[in-house]
Amino acid sequence: MKKRLPFFILLALCVTAAPKARLFAQPPHFKAAVIPEHLLPGEPVSVAIAGAGGANLRLSLVSGRGRRLAKAVFWTLSPRVFVEGNIVQIALLTVPSTAKPGNAALRIENGDAVIKEFAITIGDRKFASEEIALNEQNTGIRAVPSALKTQQANRLWTILSRTGREIYTVSAFTSPVPTDTRRTSFFGDRRVYRYSTGKTDTAIHAGIDYGVPTGTTVRACADGKVLLAEYREATGNSVIIEHLPGVYSIYYHMSKLAVKEDSLVEKGRVLGESGATGLATGPHLHWEIRVAGENTDPDICSARPVFDRDALLAKLGGSYAH
Ligand SMILES: [Zn+2]
Repeated sequence: MKKRLPFFILLALCVTAAPKARLFAQPPHFKAAVIPEHLLPGEPVSVAIAGAGGANLRLSLVSGRGRRLAKAVFWTLSPRVFVEGNIVQIALLTVPSTAKPGNAALRIENGDAVIKEFAITIGDRKFASEEIALNEQNTGIRAVPSALKTQQANRLWTILSRTGREIYTVSAFTSPVPTDTRRTSFFGDRRVYRYSTGKTDTAIHAGIDYGVPTGTTVRACADGKVLLAEYREATGNSVIIEHLPGVYSIYYHMSKLAVKEDSLVEKGRVLGESGATGLATGPHLHWEIRVAGENTDPDICSARPVFDRDALLAKLGGSYAH
C-alpha cells in the first residue's frame, strides 16, 4: 500500500512550490505609459506614471524567468507636470546587451509592493566577436591593478550610477565625429583580450569606436553638464556629460580636452581632440552612452530621443502643461 504524506507536509510542499506571493497595490487613479514596448538588447525604454504615490518608486526589467535584468528609480519632471491632477514621474532604463530574446516585464514597485507590471518583448540581436592583442604597456593598463585606477574607477561609477534631477535635453543624440567615419569596434562586441603574458580575458564593448586620426574634433552629442573631464589611467583623456537623470555620454582616449568639469555644454560644443591615450591600440574615439548604469546603443539614441517627453506624456493622456 502506498504511504500517504501527512496533510501538513503536503500543505508545506504546496506553499514552498508556489511562486512568491506579490502584493499588487495599484492605486485607483494610477496611469502609466511605456515607450517602446518591443525592445532590443542595448535599447533604452522610458516609463511615465501618474497617481502612483510613494517616494520609493522603482522600475525593474524582469526576464520571463523572473530574474531582474535592470532597475532604475523614478524621478519627478521639473518643472512639474500633472496628468489629471497627479504628478508625473519618469524612469529610464536599458535592456542589457546580454539579455535573452523573449517575453519580459517592466515592473513598477513601491518598496516590496508591485504596483503594475507591463508585458514587453525583447528581440533577438547578434553581436560581433573580436580578438584584440595587447602589447606589454596595454596589458599593464588593463591587467595590473593600482590604487589610482581603483580610485578613478570608483569615481566613474559614482557618477554613472547617480540619478540626478535635471533635464538638459529631450532630443536625439548626434555622433561626436562625422557619421561617415570608419568604425573599428561596434556596440556590444564580444571581446577577447590577448595579453602580452599569453593570458586572455573577455569583455563586452560598451560603445562605438570611430577610427579617426589624432587631432579630430570631438563634439558633445547633446546638451548637458560636464561631470568629468580628466586624464584616467585606463581611458586616457576622458569626458562624461550628464544629459538626463541617469543618462550620460562618455568620450575616451582624447589627445586634448577643451572643457572643464561643471560647465554646461550645448550639442556640438567642442570637447577636445581625439587621440590614443589610455588603453588604445591606435588613434580612435570611444563614444559610449549609459542609462541607469547600463551600456546603451548609441545608434538607437541617435535615431530617437532616449526620453521623448512629448510622446510619453501624450501616451499617458490627460491634460498637462509644462
Ligand atoms: Zn571602445
